[in-house]
Formats: sequence, C-alpha cells, structure tokens
Amino acid sequence: MLSLKHHGVTDPGKVRKNNEDSLLVGEGRDASLFVVADGIGGFEAGEVASSIAIDVLKDVEPAAPLESAIREANRRILAAARGDEKLANMGTTIVAMRFGGTEEEPVVEVSHVGDSRAYLLRDGDLRPLTEDHSLVAELVRSGDLTRAQASEHPQKNLITRALGAEKEVEVDTAVLPIQAGDRLILCSDGLSDMVTEARIQSLLTSSPESPERAARALVAAALDAGGADNVTVVVVDVREEDLPVEEPRRGDTREMRAIVPQETGVPRRQERTPYGRGGRGRHAAPPAKGKDLRRTLGTFIRALAVVLVLAVAAMPVYFWGSSRYFLGLDGGEVVVYRGLPYALLGYELNQEVRRTGLEESEIEPHYRDQVDNHKLYPSEDQAEAAARDLRVQEPMQR
Ligand code: MG
Repeated sequence: MLSLKHHGVTDPGKVRKNNEDSLLVGEGRDASLFVVADGIGGFEAGEVASSIAIDVLKDVEPAAPLESAIREANRRILAAARGDEKLANMGTTIVAMRFGGTEEEPVVEVSHVGDSRAYLLRDGDLRPLTEDHSLVAELVRSGDLTRAQASEHPQKNLITRALGAEKEVEVDTAVLPIQAGDRLILCSDGLSDMVTEARIQSLLTSSPESPERAARALVAAALDAGGADNVTVVVVDVREEDLPVEEPRRGDTREMRAIVPQETGVPRRQERTPYGRGGRGRHAAPPAKGKDLRRTLGTFIRALAVVLVLAVAAMPVYFWGSSRYFLGLDGGEVVVYRGLPYALLGYELNQEVRRTGLEESEIEPHYRDQVDNHKLYPSEDQAEAAARDLRVQEPMQR
C-alpha cells in the first residue's frame, strides 16, 4: 500500500511585504490534492486571486475533474475582479497535483496554468513535469532562446497564461505513473527563479527521509539567494507502507485512493501551435523547379515570418496587468518603445514612441541597467519618468 508524506512551506521572501502565494497541502475535501498558486496584481489583489483559486480547489470532490475546478477558479476570479475596481487585472498562476489510480497502477495527475512548476525526483534525478506558460518559454520552444538564456532573461516573469486573464483558460494536464520512492515538488517562481535546478536536485536528495526538511531547505536556499519574490514549496513523498511502521504524526500521511477516470482527466499533453506552423504553407507553394522553387520558397518563408511575428505580437502577456513600454538606445540616444524588446526573424516586436534627446553618455551609470535590460513599464508615463531619472544629476543650484 502506498502512502503520501508531505509538507508545504511559504515565505514572503526578503523584498516583498505581502505574500501573494497561496497553497493547499492535502487539507481540502480531497486529501490527495496539493496546489500552489502565485497571485498577480497590485496592492493586495494578487493575494485575493491566489486565495480564491485555493478556496475553489479546497472544495473539489475526490472524483471531480481537476481541470473543471481550475476553470471554475478562473471564472470566480474574473467575477470578483468585475465587482471591485481595486481587484481589476488580478490573476494567478496555478499548479495542482492529485494522486490516485489503482494499487497496481498508481498515478499522479498534474495540471497547471502559468509559470508555477511541478517536478519529480526519481532515483536522484530531477525531472520537470510542467512547461512554463511564459514568454521566454515560448521563445525557447521557437528556438529563439536557449534554456540557459531563458533562466537569466530580464523578462522571464512575463507569463502568457493566467487564471483571471480571460473568460476561458487553457489548462495543461498530464497523468504520470508513480512508484514508491518518488518525491514530487510544487513551487512558485520565487524558488525556480532564485535557485538553479541542479541546486534544487541536490537539496532534495540530501534530505531523503523528511519532506519537511527538504521543503524548508529549498525555501532557505531561495532566501539565501536574495528572496526577491514570495517563495512557496510543497514536497510530497510516495512511500511503501506494507510493514507496520511507527505511527505517523496525525495528518502527515495519507492513504492513496483511486482516481475515477474522467473524460477530462484523460492522459494528454496539450501541444500548442501558436505560430501557425503546419498545413497552411504546405499547400501554398505551387509546383516549381530550380530558381522558381527557390523564389517560391523565399516568398513562402517571408510569409511564414510575418505570420510568426503577428502570432507572437498577438500573444497575450500578463505581467502586473500588461506592461508594454521600455527604454532602449538608438543611434546613441535613449528612446521610449512600445511593445516587447524582441525581434523575430528580423522583425521587431515593438515600435518607437518618442526620442528623449538624452544621449547615451548622459546616463547615470547606476541606472544604465534599466536601458540595457529593457526593464518593462506598465505605462508610457512611467517609461518617460524613468527616462528623465536616467540623466546624471546636475549639482543643485542655491
Ligand atoms: Mg512569484
């Protein structure tokens, strides 16, 4: 008989006052359900969004489909945001896992939206179970960034899916076989942004007996690395409990129960084809040979490039509402741009809004990063204000 031993930890981190992360650690109606949600939104709106998501999932019946509950959470967040101006634009990520299956074939079902993650540690190897719904992850999939570049990228927090963003939300779900000895982890980006996967793996393997010690070690590592964001970690160990063992602490260990197979819980991995690759072009090229073929292909590739760029530009990006302004340099002058600081196949995903007249040499070295890293601002006014602050301060005249 398999059983679960689990522990969850959340910490506001070292920079933020509020903790906008929320978690569920087996205390819902379905005791095998574990969830992490990372709220987005000004003031306390992010906190509200992530706790609405957890409240909805807390009430999920053991046999009810997980994806419908996540879609219900999406509707509830939208409804709450409609009723209160302060909550407008709030949203949250979610990653949820539920254990079940049969005694012979135990499984875990993992559903997620956004960039909160699930991992499996098996035989000392850490494997990601989720793919982030983020701009940098899309750029990695399209081959424009490497995974290593993505983890260092200044815009790595731009997510392309969230609960509370749109009327319908697309949820990714995977169902995987599990076995005794597996350790499953859920975390918010406050961990994955601050601590490398190699370090996460080594911390998880160095405390094999205690999910509590493992969860605390991961949170401590994120804080040591700067704790720039709220950090949440849930660790669940799958154990073989066929021999009478010492009585576990109450509420720490739970027996597994079969998941009733549901239409919506069918094992699948949703493949997104956001760039319109596939059939469209295959029939577009008329039969041609030699030079003609090359010319036709050239036209086709250019047409495809335009489709790609339009698709990426239209891709919704959620980041504290929608931040779309940044500063850059053009001909040695600071320029305010609208859009995103990327080019795909030579097409810029942004346009010039205003030239500031500020020369590169006049930038205060301390603020140089804001220009080089293309820090995003939610409004043109804020980008303009940031540009004004870049100037080396003249000594005050009295
Ligand atoms: Mg976060």
